[in-house]
Amino acid sequence: MDLEKRVEELTQRLLDAQRAYYVEGRPFISDLEYDRLFDELKAIEDEHPELLREDSPTQRVGSDLASDFPEAAHTIPVLSLDKAYSAQEVVSWMEKTGKAAGGHLSFVEEEKIDGISMVLYYEGGLLVRALTRGNGHVGNDVTPNIRTVRSIPLRLSEALDIAVRGEVYLPKADFERLKEDQPDVANPRNMAAGAVRRQKSSESAAIPLRFFAYEAFWSEESQTPADHLSILACLKRLGFPVNPHFAVFSQSAEHGRRLLEAAGLDAPSYAFSDLDGYLAKASKVRKDLPYEIDGMVTKVNELPIREVLGYTEHHPRWAIAYKFESPQAVTTVLGVTVQVGRTGRITPVAELEPVALGGSTVRRATLHNQEYIDELELAIGDSVSVVKRGDVIPAVEEVLEKNNEGHSTYTMPASCPSCGSHLVQRGAHLFCPNKDCPDQVRGRISYFTAKGQMDMDSIGPKAVAKLYEMGLVKDIPDLYTCDFDKLIGEKGYGEKMTASFKAAVEESKKKPFINVLSSLGLPDVAIKGAQTLIAGGFSDIDKLLDAASRGDVEAFTRIDGIGPQTAAAIIEALDDPVMKERIRRLRDAGLQFAQVEEDPSNRPEQVFEGQVWAVTGSFEHFNPRTKAVQELEKRGARTVSSVTSKTTHLLMGKGGGSKKAQAEKLGVQIVDEDGFLSLLGWKDGGAKAEEPAGGQLSFDF
Ligand code: AMP
Ligand code: ZN
Repeated sequence: MDLEKRVEELTQRLLDAQRAYYVEGRPFISDLEYDRLFDELKAIEDEHPELLREDSPTQRVGSDLASDFPEAAHTIPVLSLDKAYSAQEVVSWMEKTGKAAGGHLSFVEEEKIDGISMVLYYEGGLLVRALTRGNGHVGNDVTPNIRTVRSIPLRLSEALDIAVRGEVYLPKADFERLKEDQPDVANPRNMAAGAVRRQKSSESAAIPLRFFAYEAFWSEESQTPADHLSILACLKRLGFPVNPHFAVFSQSAEHGRRLLEAAGLDAPSYAFSDLDGYLAKASKVRKDLPYEIDGMVTKVNELPIREVLGYTEHHPRWAIAYKFESPQAVTTVLGVTVQVGRTGRITPVAELEPVALGGSTVRRATLHNQEYIDELELAIGDSVSVVKRGDVIPAVEEVLEKNNEGHSTYTMPASCPSCGSHLVQRGAHLFCPNKDCPDQVRGRISYFTAKGQMDMDSIGPKAVAKLYEMGLVKDIPDLYTCDFDKLIGEKGYGEKMTASFKAAVEESKKKPFINVLSSLGLPDVAIKGAQTLIAGGFSDIDKLLDAASRGDVEAFTRIDGIGPQTAAAIIEALDDPVMKERIRRLRDAGLQFAQVEEDPSNRPEQVFEGQVWAVTGSFEHFNPRTKAVQELEKRGARTVSSVTSKTTHLLMGKGGGSKKAQAEKLGVQIVDEDGFLSLLGWKDGGAKAEEPAGGQLSFDF
C-alpha cells in the first residue's frame, strides 16, 4: 500500500478520534484501537521521517529535548480585564457602556476560567506559535508544550490566518490525582502553569491539560464576523473546544434568542434584569464544575461597538470580569531583592508598596524561585494580589495588571549578592556555593541563636551582624568565647545589653540535645528532623558522627521519615572537617550533646496512636501552630502536611480553607480548636498550651 496514503488515513482517523474525545466528549473508538493506530503511524514516521507532518497526532507526546521559551511579539492586544466585585457593579458598567456606545447593546456572559491565558497563532490553518500573555506585548513561545494539549487543533478545518485566545486549564479531578505526587502545588492553575513551562515537552504531555477558546482575531478584516456569538460559533466550527456555559443578556430574552439563532448557537437568553440572579447562581454552582473558575466575564457582543469603545492601557473597555472573591490585597511590585539563606539558598523577594493584609502591613513577599516568577510572569511595576495562608510568609499569588513601563519578567542574578560567587542551580533553586559567604555565615549564627532553636533571642540577627562585622564572632562556637564587652560603646550597645548576651550564652548550655542538634544547621534537620533522629536511636552526637564517618546510609534510612537523599546530605555535612571542628568546640564549651533519658512517668498517654493528623489555619492556644503539632506527636500521632486519603483527622484552626474542603471530600474527621482542647484534656481547666519542648518551624528566609 502507498505509505503516504496510509499516513494520511491514519492521521485523519486519529485527529477525528482526538477531536471526538477531547472537544466533543463523544469518543467513537476505544483507547486500545487508538493506541494501535497511533503506534502504526509512529512506526511509519520513524522509518520515513520525510512523511512526518507538522500536525501529526504523534507530535502530541512531546519531546525530551530541553527547550527554553524565546520571547515573541503578540500581533493582537493581550490585555487583562477590568474587575468588578458585585453584580451591581456589573450592571452599572453595562449601563455606562451602553450609554458610551449610544445604543442598545447585547452582552455575552462567560465563565472566567482560572487557568493560563494562551494565544494560538495559526497560519494557513496550521498552528505555528503558542504564546503566553507575557507583558501583553511580548509573550513566551511555548509551542512545543502546547502542541501536547490534545484539545488544541494543530490544523484547522479551514486554511485561515487567525489568532485565537483562550485558557489552558487542568480539570479539578486531574489536579487532585496528580497532587499526590506534587503536594507543594497549591491549585490547578499553578499546576497548569508549571506544565505549560516544562522544559521538556514530554513532561507537559504527562499533564492532561485542557483548553477553552473564547476570542478570535482574523488577519483578514473582511473575514471577521459581526458579533461575539458568531465568533464562538466559528471557533466551534474550526475545531476548538468552546465552553458551552455561556448566556446572552439583552433588552429582552426574545431579542437574545434571535441573536443566538442567527449565530446558529444554543444557549440561554435573558433580559438585563435577570443578571443579578444569574451571577448569584453562577457563584453557587461553581464548586460543582469540573474545572476552576474565579469569576464571570461580561463582553459586549457587537464587534463594531467594541471598536468604538477601544482599550485602555490595561484592558478592553468592552468587557469586565466579575470576580467571586475580592483579592486578599492588591499592591504594586516596587522591586525584587534576592536573599541568601543560611544554607546558601537564594530566595527572590518582592518589595511591595506597603499594603494592609490580615491585620498587618505587608511590605515584602516571597517569590520562591525563578520558576515561580516565570509562572507568574512577574515584572517590576506589575500590580499583584498577595495572600497569606495560616502563619506562612505572604506570597505573591497572581499578577493582576502588567506594568506600563515595559519591564519584562524578572530574572535572577548570576552571582551572589553577598559574596559575588557564581550561583549554581540545584533542583528548583539557585545556591551560593561559598560556605564562607557572609550572608550564609550570619544566617547560620542567627539560626542557632533563634527562638525555638537555642533560644538566645536577645542575640538577634542585628546583633549577630554587628558581632560579625567587628570580627568578634565568625562562626557559631565564637559565641562561647567572645568578649561581649568589646561591644560597649558601639551605638546601641550598652552594659545591660551585653549582660543579656552573656546570660543567654550561659542559659543555652542547659538546652537539651534536640535543640543543639537542630541548631547546627544540618540539612533537613530542624526540630522535627532532630526529633526523628533521636527517636530513631541517635541519642548522642558520637553515634551520629560514627555513622557518618562510616558513610552508613542505612543507619539513617532505616528510620521512618528519612530517605536516601536526606541521609546522604546529613552524612556529607557531618563528615565535613569544618562541621567536626564546630561540634568539637561547642562540646568543649559545655553544650549538651547527648539526650537525657526521659522519665517515662512524664510521657503523656498515647491517645492519638495510629492516627494521621493534618493541621491547618491558626489557633488561639497554639501559636505558632507547631505547638499543636508537638502536642499531637507527643501523644503518638503522625502528622502530615496535606490531607490525603491516608489522613484520619484534620485539626482546623481559623482561616484554613482548601484543606477543609479536601477533608470533607475524603470524609476525614475535622476537629476544631475547642474539640482538640477537650481531647488533650485541657478544656475544663482552661489551661493554655505549655511551653513546647521544641520551637517554631524554621524557614530558610
Ligand atoms: P485577569 O488576569 O484577572 O486580569 O483576567 C483576565 C484573564 O482572564 C485573561 O487574560 C484570560 O486569561 C482570563 N479568562 C478566563 N476566562 C475568560 C473568558 N471567558 N474571557 C476572557 N478572558 C478569560
Ligand atoms: Zn554568597
